[in-house]
Amino acid sequence: MRISAPIVESLDTILPEEPLLMMGAGPVPIPAKVAAANGIVINHLGETMSRIIEQVKSMSRYVFQTESSHILGVAGPGSAAMEMAVANLVAPGDRVLSVSNGFFSGRLAEMSERVGGEVTRYTIVEGQAANPEEIAKAIAEIQPKVLTIVQGETSNTVCNGALPEICRAAQAAGCLVIVDAVCTLSTMPLNMDEWGVDAVITGGQKGLSCIPGVSLVAFSELAWDKITTREDTLRHWCLDAKLADKFWYQSSYHYTAPVSGIMAIHEALRLICDETLEKRFDRHLKCSLALQAGIQGLGLSLYADKASRLNSVVGINVPEGLNQKEILAAISRDFKVEISGSFGLNIVRIGQMGEQCRVHNIFRTIHALGSTIQRLGGEANLPLGVAMLEKTLQEYQPQFG
Ligand SMILES: *Cc1c(COP(=O)(O)O)cnc(C)c1O
Repeated sequence: MRISAPIVESLDTILPEEPLLMMGAGPVPIPAKVAAANGIVINHLGETMSRIIEQVKSMSRYVFQTESSHILGVAGPGSAAMEMAVANLVAPGDRVLSVSNGFFSGRLAEMSERVGGEVTRYTIVEGQAANPEEIAKAIAEIQPKVLTIVQGETSNTVCNGALPEICRAAQAAGCLVIVDAVCTLSTMPLNMDEWGVDAVITGGQKGLSCIPGVSLVAFSELAWDKITTREDTLRHWCLDAKLADKFWYQSSYHYTAPVSGIMAIHEALRLICDETLEKRFDRHLKCSLALQAGIQGLGLSLYADKASRLNSVVGINVPEGLNQKEILAAISRDFKVEISGSFGLNIVRIGQMGEQCRVHNIFRTIHALGSTIQRLGGEANLPLGVAMLEKTLQEYQPQFG
């Protein structure tokens, strides 16, 4: 052999002895059942797989709140599901209105351009949510065939709370709506059918509290009509929804499905069904509001205004005199808690998705954040932070069920 086997370390020596608590903007911690399911491989086309796929689809209908019979899994990141929705619904020359709040909504616009869409970016003021009247005006002016939007913009922690109104305006104008719900699905309401959404995208590693690399996309009947009546051949083979339909609805071969990832998604969805969406939304809201109160109790400020604030990922302004990278490194090294920085903004981000929304995890995170800031020479009122957190937990009134 010309090239000899390298000498490498085992994972045991690379990974920390005690796993870090993943409190960033994703991936998030996964439940033990999900981790165990992800270790299973079976025949990707057998009878057993068919039964599991049927259950994944029926549980997805609940989680997406749709009766759609066009729910497809994708072997790939959330971005692959975004690209699947875009590539199948944006035909070359189609006018696309991309509501742009930040990094991920910008990615939807870029993907739409790459498949030949004539894209108009409707750029929202940084840190703000989209205004439904303004979007309705833009729809009337541009007459797009497709509108793309994120429900939650993970990058700058902004939530487009007027999504139902925006979807209605698009629907009235005969425009298909693609919604990126990667960080929000199952953490807050998204009623696909009721709101008239034509494609909803989610990834595994955020709201669903599953593994990264396996994603879901749900298409409406209207979207499916467009997909099946398009006369051009899609340039994407792996992401061609008509080919994916062979596996997801006809028990036949498209590509070898990510079997173990589908097992993990099955378990993640089953845990959501067990918990119920109502209870899950309340758990997320309660924990996120408590975390936000705790952060403010420490004396830190939140990045997004209350009116446009996302609860699934919380953005915190870096206190003056401190540095984002320094905070991330210290909190990880000294407290074994991982949080995220950001692309371009001077904020740190703490996730509130899935398993991150557990009372013990938010107490540990508030303690770690406050202590880290103190160690780095900043000011943090730890007793008040912890008290505000506890007070908010105690006073929370369920809103969903
Ligand atoms: C994380 C994220 C994505 C991209 O997901 P990947 O799995 O990294 O491709 C897309 N949209 C939103 C809103 C996200 O939070």
